[in-house]
Amino acid sequence: MIQITDLSKCCGCTACAAACPVSCITMQADTEGFLYPRVDTEKCINCGLCEKVCPVLHAKETPTAEEEPKGAMVRSKDPKILRRSTSGGFFYPLCKYVCRQGGVVYGVSMDEAFVVSHSRSVKTSDCIRFLGSKYVQSRVDGIFRQVKEDLADGRIVCFSGTPCQVHGLVRYLGKPYDNLILVDLVCHGVCSAKLWKKYRDYMQKKHHSVLREAHFRSKKYGYNNSTMHLQFDNGDYYGTNRIDPFLKTFFSHIALRPSCYDCQFKTVKRVSDFTIFDGWNAGEKIGNHDDMGYTNVIVQSQKAQKILGELEPDLEIYSSELRFMIPKSGGMTMNSARVHPRRAEFQALLEEKGFGAAVDKYLRITQMDHVIEKAKLALRDSRTFRKIAKKKREITRRK
Ligand SMILES: Cc1cc2nc3c(=O)[nH]c(=O)nc-3n(C[C@H](O)[C@H](O)[C@H](O)COP(=O)(O)OP(=O)(O)OC[C@H]3O[C@@H](n4cnc5c(N)ncnc54)[C@H](O)[C@@H]3O)c2cc1C
Ligand code: SF4
Ligand code: SF4
Ligand code: SF4
Repeated sequence: MIQITDLSKCCGCTACAAACPVSCITMQADTEGFLYPRVDTEKCINCGLCEKVCPVLHAKETPTAEEEPKGAMVRSKDPKILRRSTSGGFFYPLCKYVCRQGGVVYGVSMDEAFVVSHSRSVKTSDCIRFLGSKYVQSRVDGIFRQVKEDLADGRIVCFSGTPCQVHGLVRYLGKPYDNLILVDLVCHGVCSAKLWKKYRDYMQKKHHSVLREAHFRSKKYGYNNSTMHLQFDNGDYYGTNRIDPFLKTFFSHIALRPSCYDCQFKTVKRVSDFTIFDGWNAGEKIGNHDDMGYTNVIVQSQKAQKILGELEPDLEIYSSELRFMIPKSGGMTMNSARVHPRRAEFQALLEEKGFGAAVDKYLRITQMDHVIEKAKLALRDSRTFRKIAKKKREITRRK
């Protein structure tokens, strides 16, 4: 039976809970708010299935498609979808393709209570809620079993999630399905639902208002300025990753799930069909500088190659070599986030004194940060800045 003694060895994918024939595994949150399996030993029949399906225990054994992965940079042709998506809006055209054929899409959405979870959709328009990255680990309770039922019914199923969730699903299913399309991400790591709640409470207090909507990666200041957008009753807040305390927490690696610092799913070749990630320099290569974003796609299988072709009416597609898309160092495709040296102290203060105190002490956002950010954003729209940016691009192109 599965027993978590080292937290870094469990990514919380729920495959074990889904596989347990006597349903004696429940996912329980630890003090940091991350979910881990807990076995009711009274009910356990020692069948060993939970260990067999665990993707962390068997990360290197799970078969992948035989084809060499290929690269593409893509962008949605619909400006509304592009604006709403994090990068180039790859996912919505795929949802449309699946729903049009009577298929089912599983993606990550956030409800009115700001709970981030996987949910199921059969209508294209309903899939709009899946767009945009949510930098919080999604709840997957019950989803793997639902996916299996849909597959058994012969429906086309598209499942998107973090690499560990996709890998967990593959191991839980235990065999390949022609009617299954898997989409994973290049994944930096995830924060807990508890941290996300603490941030929201802190921001509501600070803004003396009630939060109505949240977007982790607004394009208000362009794709290259990752910006949190919060819609309060009394107005809108926009904070870039230099000054927004949640984004700063996320990108500083101070509060990621322990398994994210030793992620077992960091590789180019994956068990998925598509791997999607930020196309930070795609605009340069394509020669479009509107700063609205492109999605880098690793096409992992023949199935994916065929589907990508069918998305052409809705997607601009530029084929590209992987070596141009993935940095030489391997970036987040190949490497885990480095643990922040003050992670333990941050968590302790977070628990004791709250979000504001922990961020003030360990991630300090200064007045100077605000000044720099204001100046940068003001300059962004000015003629001088555009001239400097153009010059920089010309130099880069010459290189
Ligand atoms: C937690 C997380 C970490 C990431 N880290 C990196 C990184 O380090 N480097 C990088 O290049 N890209 C990273 N990405 C991917 C990047 O943010 C974009 O999702 C990607 O570029 C695709 O953009 P898109 O416009 O095509 O997708 P969209 O059209 O915006 O669709 C978003 C897709 O992401 C899925 N999704 C949203 N939130 C979650 C979640 N919490 N868990 C699982 N799936 C989710 C949705 O189901 C949907 O499929 C990360 C994404 C997430 C969610
Ligand atoms: S050993 Fe079998 S019965 Fe026991 S927890 Fe694991 S899957 Fe469930
Ligand atoms: S990684 Fe997934 S399958 Fe393995 S123990 Fe954790 S939740 Fe269970
Ligand atoms: S970094 Fe690895 S372990 Fe963490 S959420 Fe992403 S895929 Fe899972």
